[in-house]
Amino acid sequence: MLTRFAPSPTGDLHLGHGYSAVLAHDAARAAGGQYLIRFDDIDGSRSREEYVGASLADLAWLGLGWDSEPVRQSARLGDYAAALDMLRARNLVYPCFCTRADIAASLSAPHGPSGAVYPGTCRTLSKTEQQRRMAAEPHCWRLDMARAVTHVGALTWEEQGEGPRPADPLAHGDIVLARKDAPASYHLASTLDDAAMGVTHVTRGADLIAATDVHRLLQALLDLPTPLYRHHALVCGCDGKRLAKRDAAASLAALRGTGVDGRALAADLLAGRLPTGYSLQMP
Ligand code: GLU
Repeated sequence: MLTRFAPSPTGDLHLGHGYSAVLAHDAARAAGGQYLIRFDDIDGSRSREEYVGASLADLAWLGLGWDSEPVRQSARLGDYAAALDMLRARNLVYPCFCTRADIAASLSAPHGPSGAVYPGTCRTLSKTEQQRRMAAEPHCWRLDMARAVTHVGALTWEEQGEGPRPADPLAHGDIVLARKDAPASYHLASTLDDAAMGVTHVTRGADLIAATDVHRLLQALLDLPTPLYRHHALVCGCDGKRLAKRDAAASLAALRGTGVDGRALAADLLAGRLPTGYSLQMP
C-alpha cells in the first residue's frame, strides 16, 4: 500500500488537512506500506515556498513521518506536457481561447458537478483557425469529453468500503487539461502524479468525489492504473461550513501556538474526535 497527502502550498494547513493527512498516514502504517507527501505547486501565482516548509513542520508536529523526499508538481512539468502531446496526437484535446467572461456570458452553459460546463465554443474551430489564433492569443487546452468517453466506454472506480461507483465524466463537459497560466490542470497533474508515484490508495476529502469521475477517465485514456479511493468527511466549523485556508483559528500552526499537543491531536483526529466547535460532515 502506498498513500499520499497532497496539499497545495497556497496557505496554512488547517484541521481538515490534518484529518486527511492523519487518515492516509494511518492507512499506510497499518498495512506496513508507504506514505508520501506531494506539493501541488503548479499554480505559480498562488503557491508560496514558505507554505511548503510550514506544511512539513505541521505534519512533523502531528507525528507523521513520510517515506521519501516530498514530490513537487513543479518538477514534473515535462511529464504533463508529454501526456498532453499524446492526447493531442489522438485529437482528443483542442485549444480554447475563451475568457471566463465569455463562458459566463454564454447562456447555454449548464452547471456540472465541478462548476459551469464549457459550452464548446472552440471545439469546432478549423485547424487553420486554431493555428492562426494560437500564434496570437493565450489559450488553454480542453479535453473533447464526448470523443474521450466514446474511446473508453463506461467506467467505474472502487470506493473503499463501498464497492464500485460509476464514473460520470460526461457531466463535466470539456474540462481544461492545461491552463493558460499553468502547463497542466489539477486533474491532469494529479492523475499522472498518483500513477508515477505508485499511489495505490487515494485518501482525500469528499469535496473531490466529482473530480474522480475525470481522474478515472484520464487513467483509462492514458493507460494508467486505478488506485482505490477513500473520500472522507470534511471538517466543518461552528457555522457548519467546511474549513477554508482563510480560517486562521483552525490552522494547525495556530493550534500549535496555543500549546496543543500535535500527537494527541492526531490520535483524536484518527478516532474522529474533533476539537470543540468543529465537526465532521459529508458534503
Ligand atoms: N491539492 C489538492 C488540495 O489541496 C488535493 C489533491 C488530491 O488529494 O487529489 O485540495
